[in-house]
Amino acid sequence: MKLKGGIYWGAGCGGCDVAVLDINEKILAVAEKMDLLFWPIAMDFKYDDVRAMEDGEFDLVLYNGAVRNSENEEMAKLLRRKTKTLVAFGACAHIGGLPGLANYHTKQTLLDRVYKETESTVNPEGTVPLENSTVEGNKLDLPRFYNTIKTLDQVVDVDYYLPGCPPVPQQIYNALTAVFNGELPPKGSVIGAGTRTLCDECPRIREEKEISEIKRPLNVIPDPEKCLLEQGLICLGPVTREGCGARCINSGVPCRGCYGPLEGVRDQGVRMISALASVLEPKEEKEIDELLDGIVDPLRTFHRFSTAASILRRKKI
Ligand code: SF4
Ligand code: SF4
Repeated sequence: MKLKGGIYWGAGCGGCDVAVLDINEKILAVAEKMDLLFWPIAMDFKYDDVRAMEDGEFDLVLYNGAVRNSENEEMAKLLRRKTKTLVAFGACAHIGGLPGLANYHTKQTLLDRVYKETESTVNPEGTVPLENSTVEGNKLDLPRFYNTIKTLDQVVDVDYYLPGCPPVPQQIYNALTAVFNGELPPKGSVIGAGTRTLCDECPRIREEKEISEIKRPLNVIPDPEKCLLEQGLICLGPVTREGCGARCINSGVPCRGCYGPLEGVRDQGVRMISALASVLEPKEEKEIDELLDGIVDPLRTFHRFSTAASILRRKKI
């Protein structure tokens, strides 16, 4: 008997769906084990087809994207009911991802910016999407746009987390293989990634140097061999789970933390602030303040991917 699977996207960019295809010819091995009954980005499935299924009929659903509107939430709840195993697939479902940065704004400021204020917008009537409207006599309903982005597990019970923006293809394949072989770890675990820090798999040389200057990536060409953090670039490697193969680091770009926090860490960004504090060279408050002024946007630097899952969660406005 083949397994029954589904892949769904909430508030995401589609990169996680593409990453599934990036397992290349191994997709054939997946197809031998599992029929994909639902994958809206790739094939024409109807929500009613899912509604008509028995509860628990799916063996596995990968939900990528955060929960940003009423459609995302409705589908998260529906798929939770219809599947035995629900995986928060990718950084947005896992920890909110980049969409979570919207939590530093309100729904209204976002709508105003996107539909009225951007430099390329021409909208003299100030038209914005409405939840309910009538167009040429026809009633039109759109999903309700929420004020706050949520992670998948803030909305429904999640069985496993497959991190990354996007998850690396081999990791996806390994996780699917674990499902097929019945080798999944205990519920609530992160699958497909390791338990150490990204620094542990990073090839760059660390000399345990203290940081005397903070630089922005756009202003320097870093030494290709040495640790980026020790060169003054804020790299979240010390507080980020390993598993991506140091993708960004190998391209000379500091880690922004898309693989999420280590086991048992409540707030990845706060942990990074603490890690950074321990490697600063200045010891006097005034000098420390001057050094930290080099971090242009601390909120979005330390919680780039994890705002929605952080202790802060959103800006109070
Ligand atoms: S801080 Fe960044 S560059 Fe340095 S070792 Fe860790 S992951 Fe590599
Ligand atoms: S280096 Fe960091 S930000 Fe880049 S893919 Fe890896 S975990 Fe994600």
